[in-house]
This record gives sequence, structure tokens and C-alpha cells, in this order.
Amino acid sequence: MKMVQEIAVNEMARPPAIVAVEGLVKRFGHFTALSDVNLSVAAGEKIVLCGPSGSGKSTLIRCINHIEKHDGGRIVVDGVELTGRMDDINGVRREVGMVFQSFNLFPHLSVVENCMLAPMKVRGLSRTDAHERAIGLLRKVRIHDQANKYPSQLSGGQQQRVAIARALCMQPKIMLFDEPTSALDPEMVKEVLDTMVELATDGMTMICVTHEMGFAREIADRVVFMDRGAIVEEADPETFFRAPRTERARDFLGQII
Ligand code: ADP
Ligand code: MG
Repeated sequence: MKMVQEIAVNEMARPPAIVAVEGLVKRFGHFTALSDVNLSVAAGEKIVLCGPSGSGKSTLIRCINHIEKHDGGRIVVDGVELTGRMDDINGVRREVGMVFQSFNLFPHLSVVENCMLAPMKVRGLSRTDAHERAIGLLRKVRIHDQANKYPSQLSGGQQQRVAIARALCMQPKIMLFDEPTSALDPEMVKEVLDTMVELATDGMTMICVTHEMGFAREIADRVVFMDRGAIVEEADPETFFRAPRTERARDFLGQII
């Protein structure tokens, strides 16, 4: 009994990393987009990634999702190291949900079909099961009444919520968001952020590239600030916003707040 208790306490103190990035290097030709990036994300943790345009935020999360191949260092997602091998890549993609700035829904499929496709093709769900799961998650993002419409018939905010539901239908272990609200009209930003806050409250592990600092304050366990391909500062949101340590972070905050 005692041993069980000790293990439980240990696990509580140090939850296992779902994403471990070590010494990551990514180049585009001669240009180094990421140099020696280290980031460890524990299960259930919420990270807000921010920094000036061109600092490497998208490249970092694209490497984690293996949309980009890295040139050096290691990325381990849920215990699987990303190498160039296809079987790893597909395994990892299954566990990682991604939501982009442009919603990237399939225009020729209805909302519910958008959500059913990958679970059927990749997870092998039957049509009935995929439909049931899709409707359940569309209900969660409060858009199930639009299930049979096509993406072009929805507002931007609604499309982005469908994109979130579609990613969730794969039951990912982690969700990556790359500026999910920056293409939206201002009045639609809140509905998408509210959905993300709900997801965070449910315990999802999240890495969010966003400049929505109110959102960061509300849900982030850690704010990670990047500049010129490197992580230059990491802190809890309260500390980061109140007392950024580096001049670069102060400049950045001065511009966006
Ligand atoms: P952020 O998301 O922080 O704005 P990115 O990760 O998109 O930054 O880009 C980081 C740097 O890498 C930028 O200088 C960008 O021009 C460069 N970059 C990104 N993708 C490519 C690519 N496919 N080919 C060449 N350069 C790229
Ligand atoms: Mg970007």
C-alpha cells in the first residue's frame, strides 16, 4: 500500500511529458528558422506561444506535428521520437490535433462529413460511430444545428469551431493551435476563444500560438516567448506580463497590448 501511495505522489509531482523538444534545429536552405529550441509540455499543461512575426512559432508547432522535418535535435511526442519514418509520422499525427489560422475545412464536404472523414479513414470507425462522435463534438462546440451545411455557408467563427470539433474527433492527446483567431472578424474572436477555454478547462494539453493576451492570462500555465528562432523567455502569465525579463519581450508586449 505504501509503495502505491509513493508512486501516486511521484506522478502527481512530475506528470510525464507529452511533448519533449530538445535542441531542436530547423533550417530552410541556409536560413536557420529554429536554433536549439527546448520545450517540455506535461500532460494537461497549456502553453501559450507568442513572439514577433517570423520568430519561428509556426515552424515549431509544424515540426511538433511533423508537417516540417527538423534538421537537428529531438522531438518526442507521447513517447514516440519523430524521425523521418512514415509509420512514426502517421502514429504521431493521430495523437496531435491541429487548428490553423485559415480553417482548412474541406469545401465539398458538409460540416458533419468534415468531422467524420479522418476517424473513418485513419481510425477505422464505422460510418455510424463516426457520425455519432462527430455530432457529439459538434454539440460540444455548439454548432450541431449546422451539421448538414457546407463550410461556405458558415461564418468564420463557426468554421473555426467546426475545425476544432473536427480535430477533437480524432481524440488527440494534444491540440496545437496556430493563431486560430487572427483571420476572424473581431466579433467572432470571442466564440472561438470561449471554445478553447472550455477545452482547456476539460484538461486538454494545448500549445496555442496566439496574441490574445486575455486568453493567455486565463488559461496558460506558461507563456513561452520566442524571438529569432529561439525561446528567449518562459514564465507563468502573471509574471510574464507584469515583469518580462528581456528587452525583446518588453518591446513585443509594448506593441501588442
Ligand atoms: P512565425 O510563425 O513566428 O511568424 P514562422 O515559423 O512562420 O514564424 O517563420 C519563421 C522564419 O522561417 C521566417 O523568417 C520565415 O520566413 C521562415 N520560413 C518559414 N517557412 C519557410 C519555408 N517554407 N521556406 C523558407 N523560409 C521559411
Ligand atoms: Mg506563424
